[in-house]
Amino acid sequence: MIAGNRSINYLRISVTDRCNFRCRYCVPSTPFNVIEHKKIARYEEILRITNLACDLGITKVRITGGEPFVRKGIFSFLEQLCAIESLKDISITSNGALLNREKIKKLISFGIKRLNFSLDTLDPDKFAQITSRDRFQKVWDAILSSHELGISPVKVNAVILRGVNEDEIENISALTLKYPFHIRFIEYMPMGDSAVEKQQQILTKEIVKKIESRFGKLIPIKHRASDGPAKKFQITGAKGIVGFITPISSHFCNDCNRLRLTSRGTLRPCLLNNYEKDIINPLRNGASDDELKQIILSALTKKPSFHGLSDQLEKGIPISHMTSIGG
Ligand code: SAM
Ligand code: SF4
Repeated sequence: MIAGNRSINYLRISVTDRCNFRCRYCVPSTPFNVIEHKKIARYEEILRITNLACDLGITKVRITGGEPFVRKGIFSFLEQLCAIESLKDISITSNGALLNREKIKKLISFGIKRLNFSLDTLDPDKFAQITSRDRFQKVWDAILSSHELGISPVKVNAVILRGVNEDEIENISALTLKYPFHIRFIEYMPMGDSAVEKQQQILTKEIVKKIESRFGKLIPIKHRASDGPAKKFQITGAKGIVGFITPISSHFCNDCNRLRLTSRGTLRPCLLNNYEKDIINPLRNGASDDELKQIILSALTKKPSFHGLSDQLEKGIPISHMTSIGG
């Protein structure tokens, strides 16, 4: 599938807007409603849409949320997803709290080779402050078990906020000295009405400076087309990689190969632009496969060439919060 001059082969599927954590940069600070159960796309509906998207050129899928593992029946869904032959790469982003060795083994048995975890601190107290849940050990155990069981790469996403976890940048980066993890520092994106203040946002330049003043100059790693948006580096002598995802300081829209399917069953061509195209209602109303494929293609015609986040915020257009889209 083509959007402008970009080839779209990557579908990010959010299976739920619900989450067992309350990360302060992600969930709204004001009361919010979760999506009614009957409006959430059923697994068989997601599988049908995925199969059609694969016919149109999707080869790569990431499952996300909310927290994917809070949804009932997720393992059976993942097994069916992994059976789609044209999918070459299936990965999951999770907070890890509901995963254990047995469950990770199950994922591996389905064919899942890559997992991304979110971990913003190595300090259990700070972890509880950021996520509102005392689950550091569970998450750390899931990360280590994934590594021990052969998941490769294990990616660890960290969102750094001033006055919250900026003092953890070096410790988190130092994990790459011991483990072959890919640590990815993601710039905080102001979405929804999170409790994060503008002045708490820390851009990549500042994070790099902190890492380099502790570990010396970072060594750039050659970017491959399949690498995704992270700019990758290595600390001298490290086993792992430190990456930076820079939606704010240096957007990567020109290389964006993604389409999103939200848990409400809408197609969202850009994370930071609120345009969404309904596909679930036409599907429930009996649309044929060809009609659904046309809906997918027409959603892609609305993929903006650039997210324009700051213009939207200046005009007072709030971006939907992350759990309602799927990060
Ligand atoms: N619950 C899973 C998790 O936390 O990994 C998957 C969903 S979560 C929305 C996906 C990723 O989005 C996480 O790595 C999280 O750190 C990131 N994220 C959430 N809100 C964000 C924000 N406002 N700015 C930048 N990244 C954010
Ligand atoms: Fe939940 Fe992930 Fe958002 Fe944290 S970042 S609240 S774990 S969806």
